[in-house]
Amino acid sequence: MNIRRMTDLDLSGKRVFIRADLNVPQDERGAITDDTRIRASLPGIEFALKAGARVMVTSHLGRPKEGEFRPEDSLAPIAERLAALLGRPVAVRRDWIDAGEVAPAPGEVVLLENCRCNKGEKKNDDALARKMAALCDVYVNDAFGTAHRAEATTHGIAKFAPVACAGPLMAEEVSALTRALAQPKRPLVAIVAGSKVSTKLTILQALAGKVDRLIVGGGIANTFMAAAGLPIGKSLAELDLVEDARKVMAMLRAKGGEVPIPVDVVVAKSFAPDAPATEKAASAVAADDMILDIGPKTAAMLGELLQSAGTIVWNGPVGVFEFDAFSGGTRAIAAAIARSPAFSLAGGGDTIAAINKFGIAGDVDYISTAGGAFLEFLEGKELPALAILQQRAA
Ligand code: ADP
Ligand code: MG
Repeated sequence: MNIRRMTDLDLSGKRVFIRADLNVPQDERGAITDDTRIRASLPGIEFALKAGARVMVTSHLGRPKEGEFRPEDSLAPIAERLAALLGRPVAVRRDWIDAGEVAPAPGEVVLLENCRCNKGEKKNDDALARKMAALCDVYVNDAFGTAHRAEATTHGIAKFAPVACAGPLMAEEVSALTRALAQPKRPLVAIVAGSKVSTKLTILQALAGKVDRLIVGGGIANTFMAAAGLPIGKSLAELDLVEDARKVMAMLRAKGGEVPIPVDVVVAKSFAPDAPATEKAASAVAADDMILDIGPKTAAMLGELLQSAGTIVWNGPVGVFEFDAFSGGTRAIAAAIARSPAFSLAGGGDTIAAINKFGIAGDVDYISTAGGAFLEFLEGKELPALAILQQRAA
């Protein structure tokens, strides 16, 4: 892939704008529960600082509403962790679009507040992108996690900045995934789970064409259970997408690999860490139940399937693993991946948190910081943030 790399450029005295992916999981009080993405962004930031650049870093965090700023949207906790890891102060700039110069002194770094609070970010608005491009001499995209989205900080700014290049994390992710997925050892088994049901379900059809077996979990499995005619009570699901789920099921059936539908589940009456957990047959879910995990029989069945895989791709926890009573399914899947002789790749903010929680990081062959982008890359789709960097290098 022909892309300019930040590490090949002379950055001394330059205003360098780094779009990083610092979207880490946080608990209800905003405390960071897994800082893998911050650590993964350090090499790019440190390289620019050492080179004597005037470094500006931004990222999205959570799901803010554009044009609004709530305290929980703030990158302040990220700045604090970043400062501790870098061993130097990291200030946060709240208003950075219309405030004039925001670049700090050479060799210093500033964090530009949550970019998804800016109006026009998601729509990739040209006017916003031009304003951001005017803040820098060099634009660096080091956020592989958002490479599948064309937004103002991932795409528009790259059109207008004097120079646009990839940071070291982006460059490394692309080359590692290209190597691993060019000719995967078969059968290729994908686990797609978690809570971003509509985003992930829409890419499942394309993914179904690439993989030999597909395992669903979390809100996606609930949608598949509904598609299979099972009761799902009040569970997280996307009932509009039941038809899409059926298509995916038919595609895999045609390849000789049914999508396994959970046979047992763990349910609760409310979504809370201390909600009493009940194991049930999948057919016995009540109208006021929420499915928060797969049951032990399902976990064992999926674990067996993973033992015969050649390559495993994992994105998304299969249950609410943050709550101990609903963490058994994800723990079992993690253990099965660790045990399997298959080459394993995993990605996604919460997936990484689960990998760390269950202590299997050393047993996964490649861990990507990305979730959605990782799945779309596997799907073989052109990622807009990479495409624009290629155009700018031509
Ligand atoms: P990733 O960040 O790895 O891409 P997602 O963000 O899509 O994954 O999903 C992770 C979240 O999904 C976790 O916080 C987990 O609690 C939640 N989750 C998993 N299973 C369920 C379920 N059955 N119901 C509700 N939430 C779920
Ligand atoms: Mg997530």
